[in-house]
Amino acid sequence: MPEPGHDAGAAMTALLLVGAGHTHLYLVKHAAELAAAGYRVQLLAPRFFDYSGVASARAAGALSGDAGRIDVRALAAGCGVDFHEATVESLDADARIAVTSDGARLPYDVLSINIGSVVAPEGMEVHPGVLRVKPLSGLGDLDVRLRALGQRGAAVTVVGGGASGLELAAHLAVRPDVAQVRLVESGPFLGADLPAGARTRISRLLTKRDVVVHTGCVVSEIGERQLVCQDGTQMAHDVAVLATGLAAPPLLAALGLGDGHGVPVRATLQHVDRDEIYAVGDCAHFLPRPLPRLGVHGVRQGPVLHRSLLARVRAEPLPVYEPQRRALSILDLGGAVGLAVRGRVWWYGTGPLHLKRYIDRRWLRTYQPEPGPWQRPTG
Ligand SMILES: Cc1cc2nc3c(=O)[nH]c(=O)nc-3n(C[C@H](O)[C@H](O)[C@H](O)COP(=O)(O)OP(=O)(O)OC[C@H]3O[C@@H](n4cnc5c(N)ncnc54)[C@H](O)[C@@H]3O)c2cc1C
Repeated sequence: MPEPGHDAGAAMTALLLVGAGHTHLYLVKHAAELAAAGYRVQLLAPRFFDYSGVASARAAGALSGDAGRIDVRALAAGCGVDFHEATVESLDADARIAVTSDGARLPYDVLSINIGSVVAPEGMEVHPGVLRVKPLSGLGDLDVRLRALGQRGAAVTVVGGGASGLELAAHLAVRPDVAQVRLVESGPFLGADLPAGARTRISRLLTKRDVVVHTGCVVSEIGERQLVCQDGTQMAHDVAVLATGLAAPPLLAALGLGDGHGVPVRATLQHVDRDEIYAVGDCAHFLPRPLPRLGVHGVRQGPVLHRSLLARVRAEPLPVYEPQRRALSILDLGGAVGLAVRGRVWWYGTGPLHLKRYIDRRWLRTYQPEPGPWQRPTG
């Protein structure tokens, strides 16, 4: 049924949102304006969205299991959006039909993709039992696995010394049921994107927490119980976590929309060859300049995509996304400390973690009607 404010004589435009990433959550929240402009909005996504800002703390058991979880179905219902709980499996871009994992065929006039990223295993052989930091649904099993190992004290190996690997290793090292944490990095040092002083600070922290760091170690194979490096070194573990950086989901190539870099988009966030297809967040390959895979871009693209959709039905010029040169990023390092970095400036201590929690809660409050307590109950 046409929405109030919409010209009843005009046909509705079918807008299909695939994935409930950061950008699409914003659109769902502002769906009433889209409906008034003539859109029939449908969201195709899994029921829950997990917020990465609290993912390491949650995976390591420092925050409760549902901290940072958004019930997408409830949000869509509250905003008048038609929700289809499934994932996209294939696409007929010429007929403009998306086929879902439960076999439904969803027609669209305008399509937007916001399906996030996956871990890039960089040519290594990885056992299916090895946990991956992305998608976040898989990382949720870490706490469960560690609890199942009981009091004997687990040996955990984290592969990849970037932001998420550092967060996880630092967190796990303060967990009482973890006996040993190894952090394995192929490059010459940890936290290659961090300012040198911040890298030194984190290395000191890891040493103090008895994390065993192996740099310059190129992993070729990760099995269920041990990993092997190219130089033949073998390391045993109870649990291994892969944190070797993020890449676009291989599904995009299967959909015919992109490659490992993502869906190629112009500054308007539209597909390079198809005006009716948008891609946002980690799954987009922003052609004007490479963007790091950070939630902040997905968040900031929300208002741009929203304005773009309104502009296109009014035949107005489309807005462009202008990314910040330097974004603030804050690592949660467990033990009540964090590290904030913006460009070459950094700040370590309890203050950055408080700031992070404040930012995260403020963002989540927009989408969670009643956020529960985050702290894991003790005992
Ligand atoms: C451990 C960890 C910690 C991080 N911490 C931070 C941080 O503190 N700050 C920061 O800025 N970035 C952080 N990042 C990076 C951050 O996770 C990503 O940049 C961000 O989540 C990307 O947002 P997005 O909206 O593109 O996708 P996502 O947040 O990944 O959302 C994509 C959604 O699409 C859904 N989906 C997936 N496949 C399909 C499909 N086929 N069909 C339909 N739906 C699908 C998923 O279920 C998911 O809900 C972290 C990453 C990791 C791994």
